[in-house]
Amino acid sequence: MATMIDDEHVQIIMRILRDAGEPISNREMETQTRAVLGEKWKRSWQITNSCIRTALHSVGVVSHPRRGLWGLEAQAEEKLAALEGSDIWAEHIRIRDAKRAQNAERAEPETAPESRDLLPMIKKLVETWGPSGYEHRIREVIREEVADLADDITVDGLGNLICRVGGGGPKVLIAAHMDEIGLMATYQEPESGYLRFSKLGGLRADTLNGNRVQFEDGTVGVIAVQNGGGKALGDFFIDVQAGSGGNATPVGQPAGFMREMQARGQRIIAKSLDDRIGCVVAIETMRRLARQTPNELYFAFTVQEEVGLRGAKTAAQGVKPDIGIAIDVTGSGDQIRGHKMQVKLGGGAAIKVHDPGLIVPLAIKNWMVKRCQADGIPYQLELLAGGTTDASAIQMADAGVPSGCISIPTRYLHTTSETVDIGDVEACIDLLTGLLANNITI
Ligand SMILES: [Zn+2]
Repeated sequence: MATMIDDEHVQIIMRILRDAGEPISNREMETQTRAVLGEKWKRSWQITNSCIRTALHSVGVVSHPRRGLWGLEAQAEEKLAALEGSDIWAEHIRIRDAKRAQNAERAEPETAPESRDLLPMIKKLVETWGPSGYEHRIREVIREEVADLADDITVDGLGNLICRVGGGGPKVLIAAHMDEIGLMATYQEPESGYLRFSKLGGLRADTLNGNRVQFEDGTVGVIAVQNGGGKALGDFFIDVQAGSGGNATPVGQPAGFMREMQARGQRIIAKSLDDRIGCVVAIETMRRLARQTPNELYFAFTVQEEVGLRGAKTAAQGVKPDIGIAIDVTGSGDQIRGHKMQVKLGGGAAIKVHDPGLIVPLAIKNWMVKRCQADGIPYQLELLAGGTTDASAIQMADAGVPSGCISIPTRYLHTTSETVDIGDVEACIDLLTGLLANNITI
């Protein structure tokens, strides 16, 4: 997306500050700036939000260029009408037209610089330990991220972290699971001390050999394979020898995989993007909403998805939503010898149509598609042949909940090198924010 902010725009903002003549709140400042900078911004909000964020950041009005600019539409419209015909308005039109002409000649940058802002949060989330059923550490990391972004934060009996934003209006449950696939030591070979294990979630036998895991007490193990084996879980063992005759790790401890996140241009490579990247989409959406919404939102960071959608089940029973949305990863069809799947990396937010556990109601699918079309968000339709998400559990709560899913296209799922495109992540955030910031009329 193109941005058109420069010194002249900053000057205008400074002028608004001056003209106000009295202390002005950040909220009021945002509203006025939006009105001045964003003619027809309703249709081009990506551009104007980007401008405003950058501009406000430049003059030190907001500490972070991405925070607190949603839910101001009605106020901005009022101001916009009042400003038409004024000197400030004329100045804005002159600058805007000049910039549009310039931008038309210039190629758009490949990555919006603001995308990079998400990387530290993504790294923190994917590298935090939290196999299914043992989400206590990742829950605290997420709780810290959302502490100032919700009106109410609770943890239910199963361990879901549930954050309410807004009150009144339709209840929407947004679920992103915070557990990751892992394993559990089940038996120690008496002589060698090698550990046998069972899985927590869908481990892929073809990717286990040589991987490192970390047990809850910090012990690092190496997964290895017996001669000629490697197809079934029973062919593998975990080496936790300290070399001094001792084997500290007791049977019954859970372990998660170890791997650092890497960024390669637009691409992010990490373990547990399934579904920590969904958690990032939810957290960033909360940040952009800044508690402004006409709806009653429940952001649930769910537990035990990888072992059977268990957290989503209790979250939905507790919240009793009118609508459910899962945010999760999906596969892609753009790998060598990939299966036939329409979704590809870099193609935008994937709007689920169907998977083995969920047939998305037409009204929900159309609601998402129309939002993308109205806001110029890149999107693709997702038809997933294997696997499902929290939305499958939510749809069957109580007397039934119309549910959909926004998916992040991902390569190499359930390996320690899951790969996503940051542009797709941004598109998912834009879509979810757009859906939740507006009145829902399904
Ligand atoms: Zn998942």
